[in-house]
Amino acid sequence: MDADETAEKYNTAQEEKSTDKKFVPVCNICGEKHWPHHFLVPCVNKKRKEAKAKAEAKAKTRAKKMAKTEAKAKARAEAKAKARVEAKARKREKAEARAAAEKRSYVKAIAEADQKLQAEIEARSKAENEARTERQARLRAEKKATAYAQARDEAEVKAQSEAVARATAEDRAALEAE
Ligand SMILES: [Zn+2]
Repeated sequence: MDADETAEKYNTAQEEKSTDKKFVPVCNICGEKHWPHHFLVPCVNKKRKEAKAKAEAKAKTRAKKMAKTEAKAKARAEAKAKARVEAKARKREKAEARAAAEKRSYVKAIAEADQKLQAEIEARSKAENEARTERQARLRAEKKATAYAQARDEAEVKAQSEAVARATAEDRAALEAE
């Protein structure tokens, strides 16, 4: 009996058996109720079960590994995000400090400019006062000089007229003495 003939006989037997819906034999390999799958491979349940268990274990391991990797990635991403937020906050603080310093120096520069302007106004006012005082002093001196010159002229005129009068008196006296 060759393999083909055996297979044919087996299949025929299977077909005959499958018509009997009530009877299902208990498999002596896996212990479940089923017909032999093939005359060369009477039961695939055990192998399938083992393979399934193996695959499940493998999947479980893979899932665990994946979860671990994901957790790691998540932690890394969170740390990165935190660092980014902190860096941003630091940057903002720096910018604020810089802006405050700029504002301070701006206010200081304005105050200094105000002070300088005030000092210039005061200096100009002082110089104007001094110039006015000088002008007044000069005017007074000029008036005094004019008055002095006038007095001298008057004195000269008076002295001259006195001399003339004296000479006239002397002339008259001389004439009278003759
Ligand atoms: Zn079986």
